[in-house]
Amino acid sequence: MREAVVVGGGIGGLATAAGLIRSGWSVQVLEQAPEFTEVGAGISLWPNAFRALDALGLGERVRAAGTREIAVSTRDTRDRPVTHASTGPLPVMLHRADLMTALCGGVPAGSLVAGTRVHAVRTERGRAVVEHDLGQSTVDLVVGADGIRSVVRASLWPLASPPRYIGQTAWRTVLPMPDPDRLPAGETWGSGAMFGIMPLPGDRVYVFASAALPAEAKSAGAEVEALRRRFGGWPDPIPTLLDRASEDAVLRHDLHELPPLATFVSGRAALLGDAAHAMAPNLGQGAAQALEDAATLAALLARESDVDTALRRYDALRRPRAQAFARRSRAFGRLTQLSSPVAMALRDAALRALPEPLLARSMTATLAWSPPV
Ligand SMILES: Cc1cc2nc3c(=O)[nH]c(=O)nc-3n(C[C@H](O)[C@H](O)[C@H](O)COP(=O)(O)OP(=O)(O)OC[C@H]3O[C@@H](n4cnc5c(N)ncnc54)[C@H](O)[C@@H]3O)c2cc1C
Repeated sequence: MREAVVVGGGIGGLATAAGLIRSGWSVQVLEQAPEFTEVGAGISLWPNAFRALDALGLGERVRAAGTREIAVSTRDTRDRPVTHASTGPLPVMLHRADLMTALCGGVPAGSLVAGTRVHAVRTERGRAVVEHDLGQSTVDLVVGADGIRSVVRASLWPLASPPRYIGQTAWRTVLPMPDPDRLPAGETWGSGAMFGIMPLPGDRVYVFASAALPAEAKSAGAEVEALRRRFGGWPDPIPTLLDRASEDAVLRHDLHELPPLATFVSGRAALLGDAAHAMAPNLGQGAAQALEDAATLAALLARESDVDTALRRYDALRRPRAQAFARRSRAFGRLTQLSSPVAMALRDAALRALPEPLLARSMTATLAWSPPV
């Protein structure tokens, strides 16, 4: 039986493990954290993510953990609608911890190794050697699903440019909220900043915000206060939600993206997810692209007896699409973070003039994807 090590047990790593095991591989997922879980925040999954999950045999588990599809609107800071999407592709919202539980359920417990950090990887003569806390593993394939600061990438892509700051910081929290569906789902766009509200299953609401910030700044530790200063004067329910936020549950991260790589494959190593194409979160496609990667890799390795041929096809299929999403996400982020009143007014007027069916058609085309048959 062919053997793989997946480095990193995040969304991309777990999905890959489930897919490779279905394709007849023996897999070990090495995760540095003491358990397989995620931060206390929500995540949106669009229809392309579910097509990938279905191909990996994980779709039903994840659907059971999420909401139904949600209609989303964009508003300005005078609470006037800018866009509304209730038809066409819509997101499903989940708590990240619930998504991880669903993904873990699709991988045999014996394949999951927590508390084990990978230090270096090399690949030679059709094998990959992985050095980690428990020793060394020599396998047919190593998958670097170890996120934006990937050790696999550092080992085998020594000349790759490091992640770069995109000029935005983000806050996220989850609040208990009876009947969260009555809140306006979507985003409010203001000068150089946006605030988002999305209902979660289990009477909770996911609240997220981002703001342009010229340089990275260490978190000052008083994030709720910073949020109130910036968003406290925005339309309700934003100030009411901020009144309910507690300091220890607010996450704050400066946002980074990975400059495009020339290839996702080196010898018997493949990069996947944020390790390969970390992107600005503005389109909510980072995890979806990791899932598309996982489904593609698993399908190609199931079909091709020659691993090297499968890896070449993986790179050819995935790199253009994932890097295009990274470019679009960056451009969309610039659009949401405009601060000149004239530019904002022009943007909002142009978006208001777009008929909803046209928006839906363009989203359908962008998200169109299916795994290689
Ligand atoms: C603010 C924000 C909001 C977002 N919202 C969305 C959204 O709504 N929808 C969406 O699709 N995407 C969203 N994303 C993007 C999404 O979260 C990521 O693209 C996705 O989590 C990437 O998954 P991954 O498995 O590739 O990497 P990661 O989630 O980073 O997982 C990597 C794993 O590898 C482990 N690891 C790292 N190094 C080692 C090592 N040396 N040895 C062993 N283990 C290691 C880490 O502990 C981690 O568990 C958002 C991102 C941000 C920052």
